[in-house]
Amino acid sequence: MPVTIYFAASTDYRDEHLAPALDAVLAPLVDRIGGAAGKRFMLKPNLLSYRRKDDVSCTHPAVILGCAKWFFDHGAAQVALIENPGTQDAPSIIRAMGIYDELAAMGATVANCSRYETIDLAPEAKCRRMELATEFRDFDAVVNIAKAKTHAMMGITLSVKNLFGLVRGSERLAWHLAAGKSYPRFADMLIDIALTVKPQINLVDAVDCMEGNGPGSGEPTHRGFLAGAATPFALDTVLAPMLGYPECPQLCEMRERGLCPETEAAGDIIDCPPLRPPERENALDMSRYIPRFAVRWLQKALVSHPEVNPRRCIGCGVCAKVCPPRTLAIREKLPKFDLKTCIRCYCCQEHCPQGAITVHRTLMMKISGRVERVLRRLAGFFNRRRRK
Ligand code: SF4
Ligand code: SF4
Repeated sequence: MPVTIYFAASTDYRDEHLAPALDAVLAPLVDRIGGAAGKRFMLKPNLLSYRRKDDVSCTHPAVILGCAKWFFDHGAAQVALIENPGTQDAPSIIRAMGIYDELAAMGATVANCSRYETIDLAPEAKCRRMELATEFRDFDAVVNIAKAKTHAMMGITLSVKNLFGLVRGSERLAWHLAAGKSYPRFADMLIDIALTVKPQINLVDAVDCMEGNGPGSGEPTHRGFLAGAATPFALDTVLAPMLGYPECPQLCEMRERGLCPETEAAGDIIDCPPLRPPERENALDMSRYIPRFAVRWLQKALVSHPEVNPRRCIGCGVCAKVCPPRTLAIREKLPKFDLKTCIRCYCCQEHCPQGAITVHRTLMMKISGRVERVLRRLAGFFNRRRRK
C-alpha cells in the first residue's frame, strides 16, 4: 500500500495560515496512531542555532509552538521538546526564539538530550550498536520536525538527517570526518538512526527554506508549504527530488536498501522550484582542508572504538567471527583491532560472552564533551544577560 504524503500550503508563519496547515498534516498522521489523547509526545525540531529573527537554519518557532499547541488541544498528556543543538543549549535557543514562556504556559518542557547510551540498533540497521540520546524511548511517539535546507555535504537535509541531532554533539565532528571518506557510510548511519528511533510523525517545515550554503549559512527562500508522512523515508523519498536533490547520498542509500516506498500525495498541490545548491559542493567535507595525517589523527582521537579487557578475555574468537568487515583478528589469544578499517558497529562487544569488550571514549572525546557543556552554559548565561 502506498504511503501518503500530506501537503498543506501556508503562505507564511502567521497563525491564521499556519494553524490550518498544521492541522491538515498532523490530524491524519495522529489518527493513524489512535489519536493524541492521553499520549506523551517528544518533539524533535531542528535547532541548529538562532542568530536572528526568522533564522532559516532552524525549524521556525511558529511551527514548534503550533505543533505543541496542536497536541495539547487534542488531549496529549505530555509534550516535551528535546534536542541537542551541539554547541548551544536547547532552552537558550527556544528563549532566543521568544517561545519559551508560551511553551511553558501550555505545559510543554524544553530540554537538551542528556541520556546517552550505547544501544542496540534496529535489526535492519547495518550497524549493530551506537551511542544515542535515549529519551525517545520514554514517549508514545516521536514527532520529527525538520527544516528543508540545503546541506553542503549531504545535498539536502530533511527528515532522515534531522535525527542526527540525537548523536552526542562532541561525536558529530568525528562522524563528519568519517563521512569525508565515505558519504554513503554517513548516509547509512543516518538511516540506521531513523530505523531505530522510528518517528511516527514526520513533518518538514518548507514554508521558508534555506538554499545555497546550508545548513547554517545559506539564504532564505520561500516555498510556502508543510509536508508530513508516517515515516521519514517516505517523506524524503518525495521531498528530496521535489526540492532538486534526487541523487543525495541518503536517498541513494535508501534506494539501495529498499527503503523508498511507493507514495501518494494528498492535500494542496505544491509548485516547488528546486533549492539552489551550495556554491562549493562538499564544502563541509572538512577533511579536504586538513592534511591527510591530521584527518587520520583526528579520526583516531575523536571517534570511540572498541577495546578489550585482557583479564576477562578467554580468547574464544567469537568477536572475530562476528566482525562484519573482518577487521578483527585473534593473536596470542587476544583480539587485535584494526581501527583504520573498524566500522564501529560494536558487534564484537555485543557478542563477547565474557563482556570483555568495551566502548572506549577517547580523551579528546571526553575533553570535547566538557567543552560542549561549558559552551552551552556560556551561551545560556549570555542569552539570559541579553534578555535582562
Ligand atoms: S569474544 Fe570476548 S572473550 Fe572471546 S576472544 Fe573476543 S574478546 Fe575475548
Ligand atoms: S572490530 Fe569489527 S565488530 Fe568490532 S566494532 Fe570494529 S568492525 Fe565492529
